[in-house]
Amino acid sequence: MAYADKSTDMILLVESARMVDPKVYHPERLFFLVSSARHFHAELLEKGFNAIYRKAPTTANGIREVQAELAKKNKGASIPILAAQQSSYRLQATLESLGAKFVENDFFLTPRSLFLSWAADQKSYLMENFYRKQRTRFGLLMDGAKPLGGQWNFDKENREPLPKKYEWQPYLHHKRDEIDQEVAQSLGMTPTTTWATTRSGALKALKHFLENHFENFGRYEDAISSENWAVHHSLLSPYINNGLLLPGEVVKAAVKKFEGGDIPIASAEAFIRQIIGWREYINGMYWHLGPDYKEANHLRANRKLLPLFTDSSATKMNCLASTVKDIEDRSWVHHIPRLMILSNLALIAGVNPQEFLGWMRAAFIDASDWVMVPNVIGMGVHADGGQMMTKPYASGGAYISRMSNYCGSCIYDPKKRTGETACPFTTLYWNFLDEHADEFKGNHRMAQQLAGLKRLSDLPDVRDRAKEVLRGLEKGTI
Ligand code: FAD
Ligand code: SF4
Repeated sequence: MAYADKSTDMILLVESARMVDPKVYHPERLFFLVSSARHFHAELLEKGFNAIYRKAPTTANGIREVQAELAKKNKGASIPILAAQQSSYRLQATLESLGAKFVENDFFLTPRSLFLSWAADQKSYLMENFYRKQRTRFGLLMDGAKPLGGQWNFDKENREPLPKKYEWQPYLHHKRDEIDQEVAQSLGMTPTTTWATTRSGALKALKHFLENHFENFGRYEDAISSENWAVHHSLLSPYINNGLLLPGEVVKAAVKKFEGGDIPIASAEAFIRQIIGWREYINGMYWHLGPDYKEANHLRANRKLLPLFTDSSATKMNCLASTVKDIEDRSWVHHIPRLMILSNLALIAGVNPQEFLGWMRAAFIDASDWVMVPNVIGMGVHADGGQMMTKPYASGGAYISRMSNYCGSCIYDPKKRTGETACPFTTLYWNFLDEHADEFKGNHRMAQQLAGLKRLSDLPDVRDRAKEVLRGLEKGTI
């Protein structure tokens, strides 16, 4: 919209049947994306733009159809296409094949060429190094050339579990209008009131986060609770990814709130790092690592997708049943369940990375190729052999026990690695290290974990229990 001229340009929105297949995608995700697009189309018309909303089998079909219609109307004149840089290799290639010209995509703050030149100079792609450059480039939370508060990040202070009897701040509910209802009806579903589908709703969500959750965002960033599905996370990723909010305005609003004086620097820095650091880094890495990266399977993990991922009743593991139920309900869980519960299990159970990626891509409201591929293949399941992250995020039940309240009421015991009540995470963690000990022995960041493995006196029993656990997970009985 930023580049469009009302007097000469036509804005085309294509609803591609392939991208809204109800057999593939979570209904809440489809509802959110389709309803947001229809609202956006209505807003464009209201603002006086010439805008068309076209349903078609694929994006390319939709564009070709409208191009042909316009050419006919204009006596065969050629109809040029101007598009933002696309968010996947497939769409980029499609638009290129149609002869489109591209402008920088304002869904991101870093020009693609700038990231690629940064990456070309790196030995290892440490997000922290990129993030520091971003802070300096934007002059954000800086005191001259130094970071405000004397340190670049406050990670060490930001790993607190939630206290008992915590007082929760409420989350917003969004009213459904006529467009929402039409979309829901066409999809044959009843949406939650969790996700806004308009620009004004997304702005309300931003304001609500800044006023109610920003203060404690950093401190409890890694905490998980069965009593509150969102903790203090912003819930803004769907809007930043589909353009209802722009990352620059989110950062600006967060800085303004911080400068008002009520927000600790540890929270302000943590949140701003997510947006100008992690989000930009993940997008840059997607384009740096290339189209074949999503097929990586360095650890040769070939187990089929476990039934518990698609059915929360197919497991007795409290943490997984609760996490998958949250996804079933609203197509979202925060970063730590994505990484330390879902991906961790896929990693240590040896689930095929592409099967797991396919499920995540379909299940999450904020999923797109650029963001799912590096987060799952690189960060989540280490399928790239460490191209992006220097070590795998593998852990046993102890981490989940420390950061959540799931284990107290679980039939499994996070401290046990053998026997019927052993926590499957704990058993599979040691089994994973054992199976891949040769792979990791040259990695100094894994030395402590491998030294722990060497000290185990019951490794044969762990291996036996791991076989039982994997059989049970495949059958949906664990
Ligand atoms: P907050 O915790 O409030 O963070 C603020 C913002 O920072 C987010 O809205 C998001 O825009 C950005 N951000 C933070 N971390 C990342 C990251 N690693 N990558 C990209 N953006 C980040 N995020 C998605 O937007 N879409 C995905 O499909 C997605 N898949 C993920 C899969 C895995 C395996 C993992 C480990 C992470 C994934 N993430 C994804 C990143 C992160 O989990 C979500 O952005 C976050 O949970 C969204 O909730 P929020 O808006 O409340 O985030
Ligand atoms: Fe999850 Fe293990 Fe804790 Fe049960 S004991 S909730 S399976 S980490």
